[in-house]
Amino acid sequence: MAKNSKIEWTHHTFNPWWGCVKLSPACKHCYAETWARRVGQQVWGIRAPRRFFSDDHWNAPKIWEKEAQTEGLRRRVFCASMADVFEDRRELDVWRERLWALIAQTPHLDWLLLTKRPEKIAGLTPWGKSWPENVWLGTTAETQKWANDRIPALVKNPAKVLFLSCEPLLGPLDLNPWIETKINWVIAGGESGGKSRPTDPQWVRQLRDQCVNHKVPFHFKQWGNWAPINEAAERKRIKMLASGETLVRVNKKDAGRSLDGRTWDGSPIA
Ligand code: SF4
Repeated sequence: MAKNSKIEWTHHTFNPWWGCVKLSPACKHCYAETWARRVGQQVWGIRAPRRFFSDDHWNAPKIWEKEAQTEGLRRRVFCASMADVFEDRRELDVWRERLWALIAQTPHLDWLLLTKRPEKIAGLTPWGKSWPENVWLGTTAETQKWANDRIPALVKNPAKVLFLSCEPLLGPLDLNPWIETKINWVIAGGESGGKSRPTDPQWVRQLRDQCVNHKVPFHFKQWGNWAPINEAAERKRIKMLASGETLVRVNKKDAGRSLDGRTWDGSPIA
């Protein structure tokens, strides 16, 4: 849990627990697992326990709620950066119930629930066809296969905002079956870390163009550690992609988040 999250598209992050099981190519270099191990928490995998938290941790969003109410603002809470809220394990049910209650107690916070398990959402939420106004629901689409599998499951749920996290973007995506009528926001980004895989800038441009064409807000979060050669500050390692694009390996900060000379900070609510 953290206040003032470093994630560009949210204000806070909240984790109802730590721990998960890897599921798809986007999970390969899961930073949350790496971070958990670094701080001595063995909470990844089917047999590993999960890490749970005290009342102090659970009270933090109530403080954020009071601040948002006082300031007359809405604040976004990303849930969860160290877990998947819809991991289907019975010992998590009681913590999920606590999360749903917390969401109800914090109407000035917009809760961004991002999952790689959208097929589990309907069975693990209490809201049926009447979702609270302060829940935004997203799924990860890193390749077309995972977009095809996950987006139809996502869009069955009547959340106020439905969003896609295309990060790390690992292939070209055609969102046309869903983008015009069902998706309210698209976030994209490359991968960072020692073994990061390159994201072809053409895949990012295709996503951006689909969003622009359908007037869907587009947020480009980062290149990660592989940036287009003309966007990067320092040349170290170069990779030629099949598309003809050339990327340079740099640190994440130097790679930045500019696409074709500008940043993309689209958001469903101005
Ligand atoms: S679903 Fe998310 S938290 Fe779980 S292993 Fe995959 S990337 Fe990590």
